Amino acid sequence: MKKKNKEAAPGTVPGLFGDIPAAPPPAKKSGLLAFSYSKMSLYEECPLKYKFKYIDKIKEEPKFYFAFGNSIHTALEFLYSVKAPPFPSLEELLEAFRTDWNRKSYLEKGYRTQQKADRAYEDGRKMLTNYYAHNRASFKPPFLVEYSTDVEVDGLLVRTISDRIEYLGSGEIEIIDYKTGKNVKRQPLQLYMYQKISELDPRLKEKIAETYGERVSSVKVRQMQYYHVPTLEKHKFERADDKEIGAFWERVLGVAEAIKGIKFDPTPAEQACAWCDYKSLCPHFFGGHPPPPEALPASTEKIEALVDRYGRLKERMEELQAQLDEVGESLGSSAKDGSEYAGSQYTAQIKKRSKWEFKNREGVIKVLRDFDLYQKALTLTLSGISTVLDSPDLTDEARKKLLELAVKKTATDIKVVKKEGLI
Ligand code: SF4
Repeated sequence: MKKKNKEAAPGTVPGLFGDIPAAPPPAKKSGLLAFSYSKMSLYEECPLKYKFKYIDKIKEEPKFYFAFGNSIHTALEFLYSVKAPPFPSLEELLEAFRTDWNRKSYLEKGYRTQQKADRAYEDGRKMLTNYYAHNRASFKPPFLVEYSTDVEVDGLLVRTISDRIEYLGSGEIEIIDYKTGKNVKRQPLQLYMYQKISELDPRLKEKIAETYGERVSSVKVRQMQYYHVPTLEKHKFERADDKEIGAFWERVLGVAEAIKGIKFDPTPAEQACAWCDYKSLCPHFFGGHPPPPEALPASTEKIEALVDRYGRLKERMEELQAQLDEVGESLGSSAKDGSEYAGSQYTAQIKKRSKWEFKNREGVIKVLRDFDLYQKALTLTLSGISTVLDSPDLTDEARKKLLELAVKKTATDIKVVKKEGLI
C-alpha cells in the first residue's frame, strides 16, 4: 500500500538536502496542460516519479518489453496502412519488423545480452507469422491506424493514440489496442480515456466524412477491444456508462490540479520503488543509498527476501556494467588521448595506453616453460606476462614467440568528475 510522506513547503519540492524551489510548471501548449493516460497513471503511482520523468525530463532506463511491443506495433501499423488491398505479404511484414528491431542495439532496447534480444526477435517473428495466418482471410483496410490526437478539454490537452479504429456505421466506432505482454489485464482507466477523448474529438467526424462520405453529428464508441497478439485472443469491453466516465473525469481533473499546483511529494511504495529508475535521485529512498539493515522492515530480514534483493541488485549491476562498458568503448574510440571533455554535468579526462591481450593461454604457458620463464611471470595474469615481456634480459627469440601470441590493444582510462554546484 502507498504511504504518504511529509509534505514539502508550499512552492517547493523535496530535495536531497531539504526542500528546494519547485521547477517551473509543466510545459503547456497554448496555456493547456499536456495530459495522457500514461501521465495520469504515473502521477498516481508516485508524483515525484512523474516530476523526474515529465518535468525534469530525466530519461528512464530502456525497458525491453516496451522495445518489443513497439516493434510489434510498428509492424502491424505497416500491415494495416493500406488504403485498398492487396495487403503486404508475410515476408514484407517480417521485414518491417526486422527493420524496426534493428534500429537500436540490444542495450538500447533494454536487453541484458545479445542472446536475450535474439530470442525475443525470434518470438516476435513467430508472433507476427501466427497473427498473419490467423487473420489474413479477414484483412480489410481499417478506418484509422495509429491514430494520434490531441483534444482540448477542461484546460487540458489530452493525447490518445489508438492502434486501430474500425468504423461500424452511423457514427459508431470500435477501438482496438494491441497487447504484447504475458497476459491482458483490463485497465478501466485507459478504456475510459479512449472513450471520453474519442467522443470529444472533432477530427473523427471529419475523418468519417472524408472516408465514408457520411456526415455524423456525434461519434460514439460502441466497444473497445484488447487484441492479445501472443495468444491471438480478443478481449472485448462494452462502452462505459455516463456515471463511470463522470467519476473517471473527476479523478483526471484532480490529478491535473495537483500537477498544476506543483504537488510532487513522493508516495513510496514497495513495488513502485523496487522498479523505480530514480531511486538514486530520490531523497525519500534513503538519500539514494540502500537502507541500512536496521531500517529494513521485519519481513525483509527474512533470508528469502535478502536472496531476492541480492539477485535483483546483481542483475541490475550486470546490466549497468554492460552499459558502462559500451559507453566507455564509444567514448574511448571518439576521444583523443590526454584530452579533457565537458558534458553538461560531468567532465572527463581521457588517457589511452597500450595493453597486450593473450587469447591462447596454453600457448603462452608453453613458451614460458620452453624458455624457463614460468617463475618470472609470477602469475599467469596479463600483468604477469607483460612484466616478462618488458623485462630487459628477455631473449629476442622468447620475446618474438610471446609476441606471436599477443595482440596489442588500446585501453582507455576515463576519469570523470561531477561539475561543481551539481548534486
Ligand atoms: S523511489 Fe519510490 S518514492 Fe522515490 S521517486 Fe521512485 S517511486 Fe517515488
